[in-house]
Amino acid sequence: MRLPTDVLPTSYIIQLLPFIQVGNFTTDGHIDILVECKKATSSISMNAADLKIDNKTITVVDDENNTPFEVVSLIDQQTEREIITINLKTPLVVGKTYKISMKFVSILNDELRGFYRSTYEENGIQKYLAVSQMEAPDARRAFPCFDEPNMKAVFTIIVGYKNDKMSAISNMPVNKTEPIANMPGYMWNHFNPSVKMSSYLVAMMVSEFVSETSNPEFSPGIVYKIWARPSFRNQTAYSAEIGPKILNDYAKKYFLIDFPLPKMDMAAIPDFAAGAMENWGLVTYRETDLLYDPKKSSASAKQRVATIIAHELAHQWFGDYVTMDWWNVIWLNEGFASYMEYPGTDYVEPGFEMNEQFTVTDLHYVFGIDALESSRPIDFQVNTPDEINQMFDAISYEKGSCIIRMCANFLGEPVFRRGVTRYLNAHAYGNTVQQDLWKALQQQANQENIILPDTVENIMETWTRQMGFPVINVTRSYNANNGATASQQRFLLRKNPNSTDTNVYKWWVPLTYTNNFSAPAESSWLPGSNDSIQISRLPGSSSDWIIFNVGQEGYYRVIYDERNLNLIREQLMKSHTVISKKNRAQILDDYLNVARANLTSYVSAMELTRYLTNEHDYAPWTAASVALDYIDVMFYGLRDERDWKDYMTGLVTPLYNHVKYTESASDVHLTVFTRSQALNWACGKLNISDCVQNADRDYHAWMANDAKELSPNLRRLISCTAIADGSRPEWKFGFDKYVSSTLPNEKTELLRAITCTVNVTILNEMLVMMITNNSDIRLQDASTLFSNIAANPVGHQVAMDFLTNRWNEISAYFGGFQGFGGGTMARLFRSLCNRVNTQAKLNQLKKLRSDHPAELGSSKSVSQGMEVAEANVLWVQQHYDTIVNWLKSQQSVATTQPTVATTPSTVATTPSTASSVYLDNFSALIMAVLAGFWSLTRFCSFP
Ligand SMILES: [Zn+2]
Repeated sequence: MRLPTDVLPTSYIIQLLPFIQVGNFTTDGHIDILVECKKATSSISMNAADLKIDNKTITVVDDENNTPFEVVSLIDQQTEREIITINLKTPLVVGKTYKISMKFVSILNDELRGFYRSTYEENGIQKYLAVSQMEAPDARRAFPCFDEPNMKAVFTIIVGYKNDKMSAISNMPVNKTEPIANMPGYMWNHFNPSVKMSSYLVAMMVSEFVSETSNPEFSPGIVYKIWARPSFRNQTAYSAEIGPKILNDYAKKYFLIDFPLPKMDMAAIPDFAAGAMENWGLVTYRETDLLYDPKKSSASAKQRVATIIAHELAHQWFGDYVTMDWWNVIWLNEGFASYMEYPGTDYVEPGFEMNEQFTVTDLHYVFGIDALESSRPIDFQVNTPDEINQMFDAISYEKGSCIIRMCANFLGEPVFRRGVTRYLNAHAYGNTVQQDLWKALQQQANQENIILPDTVENIMETWTRQMGFPVINVTRSYNANNGATASQQRFLLRKNPNSTDTNVYKWWVPLTYTNNFSAPAESSWLPGSNDSIQISRLPGSSSDWIIFNVGQEGYYRVIYDERNLNLIREQLMKSHTVISKKNRAQILDDYLNVARANLTSYVSAMELTRYLTNEHDYAPWTAASVALDYIDVMFYGLRDERDWKDYMTGLVTPLYNHVKYTESASDVHLTVFTRSQALNWACGKLNISDCVQNADRDYHAWMANDAKELSPNLRRLISCTAIADGSRPEWKFGFDKYVSSTLPNEKTELLRAITCTVNVTILNEMLVMMITNNSDIRLQDASTLFSNIAANPVGHQVAMDFLTNRWNEISAYFGGFQGFGGGTMARLFRSLCNRVNTQAKLNQLKKLRSDHPAELGSSKSVSQGMEVAEANVLWVQQHYDTIVNWLKSQQSVATTQPTVATTPSTVATTPSTASSVYLDNFSALIMAVLAGFWSLTRFCSFP
């Protein structure tokens, strides 16, 4: 599928005239490409897909003297290989430049890729716009081109549009505007030539959008605008403020390299496959990821806007200015941009405490995927468009950001940062492989006398060339020396006895450890060639606890000998804040997962959770919630589910009483998030009556008077609870609000809330709507709807049956819609895997997969989903009884000697008698994340 390198492009002139009208959604195109001949050849191959090429207009001329070459034939393999080949009578000469020209027509498709159309309604009128999404390999759908990231060129773009209300923008500013001959009312915008860049970064948009210009003081010398449909203009102020600040004050200063373009446009697109796309100078976003209404958007929506902007703007350097050589190392782009989301957002919003959020958002999440035997190395060979699209996954994004963070930590952040600048300067406007980054970091480390036990390359490639990660087993000596042995082994969620993998997994592990969080941590290295090392002396005495992986900066799990674990547990019960929030989150996540993987007993892990009655902080509760939610899902429908719910009610009630149902003006950002955690359990999973009654009351007040809107932060939770607890009128009201909402964030929240119903008829009706043209469910939202229904305990079977029984219809409906992270059918299938906890469900899933080998056979995420589902069924066999016995022992402890130091309880903990409430908030997020749906809502082609 790769192009030959006999001729390479140096510049393009691309002229596109989109007809944005019903009945004729096409684009007339003309292209001139200057190419340099690198090896004598009489055939020129380039990429094209779904283009109607006008054969008789193809010309190839010597650029120096305009001498034409005779074109013998055009071999059109667009369908099979996405390649066309022009055969010439005489060969091109090495070192000379030629101009290739042709006319073509492309389809202004509705598949959210290439140059495509998007729609929205304004004052009851259907409006259309034309916009591009070229990453990964879809520039070829907009114009014939050399569509590989390392075939960089200068792009001069000319776009036509109807001059009544439309305007056209592209990567560069407009150079001149002129009428189109013989087409009254139509104009050409000629844009300035771009800087040298990859084809996947080309962008253009023709629309009736309006723009808001940022305060020029925020980004001197750079004209910064936010574009949106006219009725959303009032939601652009936040991005207009933080965008230029992140670009000019943060990113530019971080990289120490000026932004090379004179302008930046950021546009909110109604239909968008990814979350946002880092096109150089014209970044496109989902509306939910760029627009913010201070009165109606939630705190999490605000954080999402800030982090995605930070991500995309980091790409302007890391990705656009310097680009990976090929898609196998897309992690260089995406890992780095994901890493930069945190400090970039922190710069404009220090109150978000982004640093507290990294481990529970990125690290713990990707551990779940990378612990599978069917994971993949970060650096992974890909060739076909389908394989390339599958690379936009958690391994490239979240694992990428985690190992970059680890590297920054062992080098020291300032040294790392200067090394990154060195790398960018060395490869400006060029392409790189990962060794180029290691080399620059090595040079910087050498210059600053940083002593490492091996080269940066040798250390880091143990993390990029092999999949997975280690669990470090710490065994202390407890003698006068107070030493320890630390050994490594690959952490697998489930060891497959029939595995054919013979690779010996070892990593260079930067160990850090402490017995005092107010002092600097100590460190040693566990070499990539060793199973274990001796640490001769730990800080403190043998009666102190020791904690490894301080701040969880390293990409590894830790387990301890029983005595140290007891010391930690005693500290948590006595005074948990002595241990940092991040490490409390780490200990919970590590232990609940090593128990799941059978490396320690669930009793040890569950004993640690008892201190949660005193825990009020966001990070530890998030770590606990995710891991405990897994048990909650596995217990669904089983005999002793009530015992589990009772234990969780005991843990959650003090938190619920602490954060309270009602919001307060003095809440800080993470308190808002912690309240969501508490209410998600209290209302959604545990039916704590005070919570459910409050939610029902607020929702019904909204139904009675829709001017009485719900708090943006609680809107989804309250709606979900009341819809699950209610019947058709509650659902219908939520659905109508979803349809009529003009606020993108509210729309998404209500879309998820309406999937909380436990009415099977309604669930089926929604699934039918999902595959009906012009229904109220947009194509871009279809898989969000499906994955949320699949995460609903009742909806899971409904969704599984729907996919099984109507496969062909569903597949036909989604047709060419790919999205990122692979085909839609594979993604729908993947979202069914997490809730499988019985052999019957597993069998149904296995049959579904074997019935559709063409669509599911080669998908990585499908293999991962099957591995999760199989591990779930095994989990129930292995651990269910252990946990039930432990739960029952807790009940007897609780009645005789209450160990829980509760704050005065203001809430009765008796479960509501309402029907089983299901709340999608956090679990559905995690489900969706694990299901790979993240890629649909995540930024930059993800993600
Ligand atoms: Zn990205």
